[in-house]
Amino acid sequence: MTQADDGSRSYGLNDAVAGLEALVGQPHISEDYVRFRIDLLKAQWAVRGALDDAARTVGAGHNGKERVPALDPTAVEFDGRLLESLCDALREAVDKPGRDGGDISRLASAAKKEPDLLEELSRRAAFGPDREYLESLGRRLEIYTDALLFVGRTLAAPFVTVAARRARRAGDGSQEAPRDSGLCGLCGSSPGLATLEQEEGQRFLFCSLCGNRYGFRRLACPHCGERELEALTYVHLDDSDPRWIETCNTCNRYIKTIDTRKLPAGRPLILVVEEAATLHLDLLAEREGCARGLPYAACV
Ligand SMILES: [Zn+2]
Ligand SMILES: [Zn+2]
Repeated sequence: MTQADDGSRSYGLNDAVAGLEALVGQPHISEDYVRFRIDLLKAQWAVRGALDDAARTVGAGHNGKERVPALDPTAVEFDGRLLESLCDALREAVDKPGRDGGDISRLASAAKKEPDLLEELSRRAAFGPDREYLESLGRRLEIYTDALLFVGRTLAAPFVTVAARRARRAGDGSQEAPRDSGLCGLCGSSPGLATLEQEEGQRFLFCSLCGNRYGFRRLACPHCGERELEALTYVHLDDSDPRWIETCNTCNRYIKTIDTRKLPAGRPLILVVEEAATLHLDLLAEREGCARGLPYAACV
């Protein structure tokens, strides 16, 4: 474990893989999903490592102080060769017994003939996202829009993460969310998880794309900013569980929340582990009639 330059905890790939492996066999955990996440994470970290080694200009835009998010989406560079290798690794990850790799195989085959396809998909899935583009591509390649959204954001995450960290170090934009919005101040994406921390239960949100951690007011919907308490509901599977969902009747969305004060002492909070450990809460939210949010694609 190391301390990141923003003061938040950070961890290495081995810590995250060990944390994911430790979930296997626990209640509510899908072993296949955990194994899939491990494969994805290793592939995403390989790209992050290559980007760091090359010290490329995966660019943060130079924005004015007020501008949020910090990243100019058009300035984030996606390396075609690394995207192709990440897509191949994804194809290998889904080409295992019990998993359906048809969608990614079709995408990878199409990408061999259309060199710009993976970059276009990554960019349009990461920023916006551009649903019209995803639907049109989905019809053409016979791939569900949700699958394209997930793959596109998974492909984009390492590039956006590296660019976001550089923007933060350069002092561009804000690590914090814009006022009354729970969107990431670095890449503009919506949060994937929330935590309550420290004695007073201060709330932090974690970006579903770049993994940025930022403070947000406790009693407000992080998606639409709703602050009327009647509109906000907590749904627990079990009252003693340190993980639950908070739903919003105004925008019909939800956020998975982890009370870190109730986790075993000394245990590091590893986001991708928490994401896999709370998969059952997404199903609970679906049963509650909440709309599905953006998939968690961050490689942290
Ligand atoms: Zn972000
Ligand atoms: Zn809301």
